[in-house]
Amino acid sequence: MSQYNLVSPPEGYSAPGFFATSLDKVVGLARKNSIWPLPFATSCCGIEFMATMGANYDLARFGSERLSFSPRQADLLMVMGTIAKKMGPIVNQVYEQMAEPRWVLAVGACASSGGIFDTYSVLQGIDKVVPVDVYVPGCPPRPEQILDGFMKIQELVGNESLRRRYSPEYRALLEKYGIK
Ligand code: SF4
Repeated sequence: MSQYNLVSPPEGYSAPGFFATSLDKVVGLARKNSIWPLPFATSCCGIEFMATMGANYDLARFGSERLSFSPRQADLLMVMGTIAKKMGPIVNQVYEQMAEPRWVLAVGACASSGGIFDTYSVLQGIDKVVPVDVYVPGCPPRPEQILDGFMKIQELVGNESLRRRYSPEYRALLEKYGIK
């Protein structure tokens, strides 16, 4: 018995010796199974992420064992923890330095909404500074929840049209955040 699980092929048409699908689907399949995350961990939720990387939960199963601490070589910004207002511009800068296509996962209540820290100094959600694709609830979220959020990102990545990043709607979204 093989110890490797192969991903299913994308939707398409097949006959003996023949398989046809669209370029979007092939690119989506490759991208969703080789996401390189950039962990931006500032507090307790980061510890849950460490557990997610460990042998029990093993993020490597999704092709994402290669964490990137350089924004240029990252596809997914994972923000985990409390983000102070002073740190907001830094999160935005890190996002700007990532090459397209890029995605954002807000992990935990603090990153999603400021969490229990409804104070003058804490950013009330990272969507004030970067566009967020998926929010993971919880304080802290368990590794299963982080994996669930990650799989939702995989779904988005796998189904994204190759034209989306060139659309006027996407340009308008980035402009809202002051990103050119
Ligand atoms: S959501 Fe809870 S566990 Fe996560 S960083 Fe905030 S206080 Fe810590």
